[in-house]
Parts: sequence; C-alpha cells; structure tokens
Amino acid sequence: MDKRTIVVALGGNALGNDIDEQKVAVAKTAGVIVDLAQQDLNIVITHGNGPQVGMIQTAMDNVVVRYKNYKQVPLPGSIAMSQGYIGIDLQNAIKYELLRRGIDGKVSTILSQIEIDKNDPAFQHPTKPIGRFMTKEEAEINEAHGIPCMEDAGRGYRIVVPSPMPKRVRELETVKTLLRAGHIVIACGGGGMPVVEEDGQLHGVNAVVDKDNVSCLLAQKLDADQLIILTAVEHAALNFRKENQVWLKDITVEEAKRYVAEGHFAPGSMLPKVEASIRFAESKPGRRSLITLLDKATDGLAGKTGTHIHI
Ligand code: ADP
Ligand code: MG
Repeated sequence: MDKRTIVVALGGNALGNDIDEQKVAVAKTAGVIVDLAQQDLNIVITHGNGPQVGMIQTAMDNVVVRYKNYKQVPLPGSIAMSQGYIGIDLQNAIKYELLRRGIDGKVSTILSQIEIDKNDPAFQHPTKPIGRFMTKEEAEINEAHGIPCMEDAGRGYRIVVPSPMPKRVRELETVKTLLRAGHIVIACGGGGMPVVEEDGQLHGVNAVVDKDNVSCLLAQKLDADQLIILTAVEHAALNFRKENQVWLKDITVEEAKRYVAEGHFAPGSMLPKVEASIRFAESKPGRRSLITLLDKATDGLAGKTGTHIHI
C-alpha cells in the first residue's frame, strides 16, 4: 500500500444519542471523513456505540420481560446489531457525501469480532460505562441489584462492564483486502464483538472492548501512519475542568506517560484515548497519534490543532 493509512476513531458526538440525532450527526461526520478522503489516504473508521447499544439492550430487556418465549440477547449480539445499524447509516452518509462532491468512492462496513483473553484482569474491575445516563438514585437501585454503575465524566451515572484488552481483530484480512480495493472501511464498531475461541468456535463474552484500544490494535496491524481519535474536546488537558487547566498540544510518549501516572485523564473516557495513543506512537518509529475535536480532524491532521503524541 503506497498511500498513507489512517485509522479514525469516532466518539459519541460523531453519531448522536438517538435515531433522529444520528441522522443529523452522521451527515456532518461524513463531511469530515470525505475531507480526509480527499487527501488521498487509506481510511479505516472505527466508532463507539454507547447510546446505541444501550438502546438495543434496553429494547431486548423489555421484550424478555413482556413475552415469555423470548430469550435474553447477550451483549455481544447487541453489539453486532449496533455495528450494523450505525455502520449502514455512516456508510450511506459517506457514500452520499462522496456522490455530492462528484467522487466515485467505495465504502464498506465490516461486522467485526475481537478476540480477548478470558483471564484478562479487567473482569475483576469493570471500568467501561455503557448505555443511557441515569440519576444517582437510579444508579443506586441498579447497584442494589448487583449491577455495577459509575459516574461518567460529569455527565451522570451509567452501567459499567469489564473492558478487556483486544488481542486479535478476526476480520483483519478482510479490512486489508477492502483497503487495497480502494474502499473506505468501517470496522470494529463499538470496539467489536468480544469473543474467545474454543475448539475453533468463537463465543461471545459479556464485556465491551474499548473502541480506542481496538483502534490502536487495528492501526498497528494495518501498519497505519496515524491513529486519529475524534471526540468532544479539541485537546486532552491537564487539570481538566479546573482553574489551572492546560490544553496539551504536542507531547512525547514520555510526557504522556507521566501525565497518565499523575491521574489527569478520567478512566473510561480520556484515559483510554491517551493510553491507546501512547501505545500506538511507541509501537514503531514514525507513528503518531492525534486526539482532537471531530470538526477539527483536517486541521489536526495538518498539525494545526489537537493533542499530538509521538516518540
Ligand atoms: P468518546 O465518545 O469520544 O469516546 P468520551 O466521553 O468517552 O468520548 O471521552 C471524551 C471526554 O473525556 C471529553 O469530552 C471530556 O469530557 C472527558 N475528559 C476527561 N478527562 C479529560 C482530560 N484530562 N482532558 C480532556 N477531556 C477529558
Ligand atoms: Mg469513550
């Protein structure tokens, strides 16, 4: 592959919180992606699925409560549904934007499974907030029923599940094949369906792989040049939301590691982005990571804004 390859991880703000918001959000996101596509890059898009998988799982819960003959859909099944439902909206929006700009582009969505280690220590410490936001009172009721909850970056309470590290993207060769054929590829949505392999069979696991971590793994395996994490803030910050807040612009892996150790980044939101960025940047000379606002992707790639992390 001669073209530079970038892996673009889309956060919740790229997709919206419900069906109506998603239609509007993906149209805007498609503009951002096609701006990048016009720079002659191989592009792989990953995305979160928090609100969408929460909606699907809630719907499935209600079906089980109301109708005797329905069985509960396990979380990996709901993740698969969310990959399809988000992927098709995103794929169509990007195709439409390409068409609108007179570009003959191809876009594909790949249902993706991620192998994890069933002995991952994450199963002892759930860290990943999923689903709808709740009040403290609602969270306490869940906790009383043995469903762990946590406060999420000042935005309310959510259910929290284990977030094991991704070990292998099962559909890696498919992604590579489509890139070589000139497709923009949407893969590993919602972090991918977590699976373990036993006797040649893949079994779903009740967990959520962080989309920033899986994006880092995918970027390494594709030998990408840049990992770009697009989110709701233009920069990662030290002393976030405090009086002495400092936006980070260009930092080394060493500096980033120190800031992680000092506890500047919230677990479950900014911490996995910075950790994934560090891991990608240090995995091979020349690799760089960028964390920035969705709207600033092009400026970020040009080095004009965002938090850049490199060796
Ligand atoms: P996404 O859906 O894009 O993954 P998250 O909400 O998981 O977004 O993570 C991004 C959020 O992390 C930001 O919007 C911000 O509120 C929060 N955050 C926590 N710590 C920091 C920090 N140190 N610097 C910047 N943002 C932070
Ligand atoms: Mg997140």
